[in-house]
Amino acid sequence: MNEHLKKVIELSEVDREIDSFGPKEQKLKDGLNKLGEKAGKIQKDISDLTEEIKEIGYRKNKADSSLKDLSAKLNDIAKKSNSVKSEREIKSLQIEEEIAREQIGATNEEIDRLDKQESSKKDRIVQLSAELDSVKSEMTKAEAELKDELDELEKSKTEVYTKKEKVQREINPKVNLFYQKIKRWAGSSTVVPIINKACMGCHTLVTEDTYRKAIRSEDITTCANCGRIIYMPEQL
Ligand SMILES: [Zn+2]
Repeated sequence: MNEHLKKVIELSEVDREIDSFGPKEQKLKDGLNKLGEKAGKIQKDISDLTEEIKEIGYRKNKADSSLKDLSAKLNDIAKKSNSVKSEREIKSLQIEEEIAREQIGATNEEIDRLDKQESSKKDRIVQLSAELDSVKSEMTKAEAELKDELDELEKSKTEVYTKKEKVQREINPKVNLFYQKIKRWAGSSTVVPIINKACMGCHTLVTEDTYRKAIRSEDITTCANCGRIIYMPEQL
């Protein structure tokens, strides 16, 4: 095979590897990011619940102070009932007392309900905190693993970049320029094989003339349809 073509294939393989580093790194980090999101969501739930418990506390305080008011009112009514004489006044105080007692009952029910809400929210916080701890320990583990994998990736990056420098020193500058021009739009599929007489860049059949040229591989051949550099893998 033509030496220029060999070098351009090598260069495209090296570039393809370099292009794959970003997505590989992203994939490695994805797991950890997901755990981070999960932890964030749990933390948010805990802080929402804490706010709700605070709000329940305010409502309980309010209910407690209305209970105090209502019992003061009952004392008041009791005092008054000693001094009133008329039937009408007695009746009116009885109604007042009845209303106050109903209100006390309702307020006590409200406090019970708030107590239950508060305790169920506190239980949920305990549960969520345990979940958060477990997610955090998963994160610590994932971070350690990620560090190893990123180090590994960094090592292969260094290797590939060294390889690229070597190929770039060896490749004919004009061929390199030609390759770079196509790479601008074709990216990692700048140099593609012909399989079953079709260009693997645009997936159309190459002409007989192009096919023969590719088999001879005396020069760098491009696909007449898409313009990518093509080669016969059998010739490698
Ligand atoms: Zn093509």
